[in-house]
Amino acid sequence: MVVACDEVQSTKIRGCQDEVEEITPRIYVPPIVDDFIEILGMFRVILLHVESPEILVRTLKEFLKIFYFKVTLNATTEDFLACLNHHEPNIQVYVLGDSSYLPILESGIRNPRFYPHFISPISGPQFIVTPLRDSHVQAAVICSNENHIELKVRSNGHDYEGLSYRSDVPFVMVDMFQMHAVNVDVEEGSAWVEAGATLGEVYYNIAEKSDTYGFPAGICPTVGVGGHISGGGFGTLVRKYGLAADNILDARLVNANGEILDKASMGEDLFWAIRGGGGGNFGAILAWKIKLVPVPKTVSVFSVCKNLEHGATELVLKWQEIAPKLPDDLYIKLLLDRSHPVIVRGVYYTINATFVSLFLGGSPQLYDIMERLIPELGLRREDIQEMSWIQSVLYAAGFDPHAPLEVLLDRNQTGRKQFFKSKSDYVNQPLTVTALEGIWKMFYDKDAEEPHMMWSPQGGAMDRIPPAEIPYPHRKNLYQIEYMVWWDEQGIDAAERNINWIRTLYDYMEPYVTKNPRASYVNFRDLGLGQSKNGTASYEEAKKAWGGKYFMENFDRLVRVKSKVDRGNFFRSEQSIPPTVQHAWKRARDDGQDEACIQVVEAQKRELMLARVQDRDSNAVQFESS
Ligand SMILES: Cc1cc2nc3c(=O)[nH]c(=O)nc-3n(C[C@H](O)[C@H](O)[C@H](O)COP(=O)(O)OP(=O)(O)OC[C@H]3O[C@@H](n4cnc5c(N)ncnc54)[C@H](O)[C@@H]3O)c2cc1C
Repeated sequence: MVVACDEVQSTKIRGCQDEVEEITPRIYVPPIVDDFIEILGMFRVILLHVESPEILVRTLKEFLKIFYFKVTLNATTEDFLACLNHHEPNIQVYVLGDSSYLPILESGIRNPRFYPHFISPISGPQFIVTPLRDSHVQAAVICSNENHIELKVRSNGHDYEGLSYRSDVPFVMVDMFQMHAVNVDVEEGSAWVEAGATLGEVYYNIAEKSDTYGFPAGICPTVGVGGHISGGGFGTLVRKYGLAADNILDARLVNANGEILDKASMGEDLFWAIRGGGGGNFGAILAWKIKLVPVPKTVSVFSVCKNLEHGATELVLKWQEIAPKLPDDLYIKLLLDRSHPVIVRGVYYTINATFVSLFLGGSPQLYDIMERLIPELGLRREDIQEMSWIQSVLYAAGFDPHAPLEVLLDRNQTGRKQFFKSKSDYVNQPLTVTALEGIWKMFYDKDAEEPHMMWSPQGGAMDRIPPAEIPYPHRKNLYQIEYMVWWDEQGIDAAERNINWIRTLYDYMEPYVTKNPRASYVNFRDLGLGQSKNGTASYEEAKKAWGGKYFMENFDRLVRVKSKVDRGNFFRSEQSIPPTVQHAWKRARDDGQDEACIQVVEAQKRELMLARVQDRDSNAVQFESS
């Protein structure tokens, strides 16, 4: 099922030194016939991988649409490429329809649900810019802004809804994968990390320099720091040190005007907003300066699984009580899934509850704590393994802890690729037995091919950091739930079946989780909460649908920052932070700021252009069901 682009020629990068001439606008303004042939060639490749009639029909429809777009957007194409060429002649850019375009686009797609041939080629970018340095990102921002083409940044493509690489309007994607340097300064206890680096690259580079420093970020090594830290970022050190975004010392970004700013020049408000206010809202992050945190030379881990027949329900109840209150050095997360089919008491499945732990200390101490606090788990001394912190990173990610550390440098770790859909919640009152039994029942539903839940404890440092310190507000809860369903079967039916299942589970959970608003984690992006047509939501719409849920009382401050730093709403997406346009307009007029007035008018123009595009695109992609 993984897309094999054997038909696609090997990558040819436009804009390399010897190809500068090709970047001239002329080359991208072929007569209509040339356009047709060029796009047909691309579709021939796609059609070879079409595996169902419904996808074939959709693909053909998209072919006509893309042809239409290609022709109507030639003027923009010409201007955009000329602008890039003017600012940065050596910049690498791939244009929709190039034979090398599709492999680049697909290399950063982590959820096959969003492979272009499963949805719509037009949902992919018109241009992909692959910067090598800050000035390239700057040029992409300036030229997109000048030409009113939306811009999205992709660091390593883990956005759950694919918002870094798809949209229903034409856009430029800045793909940061070549900007992934990590420079560790052990003396200072810090590191500068370029946005395209993965968490695995960060952890690897820290471990290369020190065995007593770590960084508190996510578990999956392929996640990109650009998106991850922008939305918060938590992992096994969260109870000791908080989120990745809580441990940021400085940052460099390109703002909507194309200026490069750092902490000192961007000001307190913007520096606050980018640390957890969600990717793609305030600027293109170029690099973060992270604060390294102390870790002992020896840590301990265990992973123990119990099914319902071995007391899983009682253990889950107990876990809720103790996990958020454990010493900060101890993190125990809970994974719930359905076991492989076995006949037990007349049903075909049982539920597995797996307790996965990291302790910042030695095995005897961990054993004593567990014996004292949760003897029912039946943890044996031999269940605990001692290792270095970096080995615990491998362990948490599902690798053999003795594997070579270089596995952390693999940006793709392709393995088995599955479609997936995720949602999230926070819990502030322990769930009852009845609530748990209802969940087990839903897990037996065969509509869900592979249902999962991950319960991540909070407490510890998370409790101590005030909710308004950075935009991530969900500090005072017991734990976070991530719901997830994976499936292999292709086609809309399977997608709908699995997505409907997760929605039903989410509805079922409503009485048991946070309310008014029901909280969600922005890094587990969920378009099911609501979405705007490409960043055009009003303040009220955005707050009600997703803004209040992701950011609670911090949403208003994010809107104020957005209104100040990106009044024209250049950085936007289906779930972005809206500027208050009236507010910006009034403020600009009151301040007598011509420049700001122009930006507001430009924003309105962009909205008009967008409305025109949307009229044409009446069959806009339905993200949730695709
Ligand atoms: C397999 C998997 C495991 C995960 N594990 C964890 C985990 O353990 N803990 C956790 O907290 N989260 C986890 N996540 C969620 C992850 O943190 C988010 O999806 C995160 O946004 C991904 O960042 P990215 O750069 O890889 O994604 P991208 O898709 O590249 O970007 C995500 C969003 O950020 C924006 N963005 C990306 N780069 C930049 C930039 N340089 N400047 C401005 N905006 C940018 C994008 O436009 C998009 O809106 C996981 C996700 C997956 C798919």
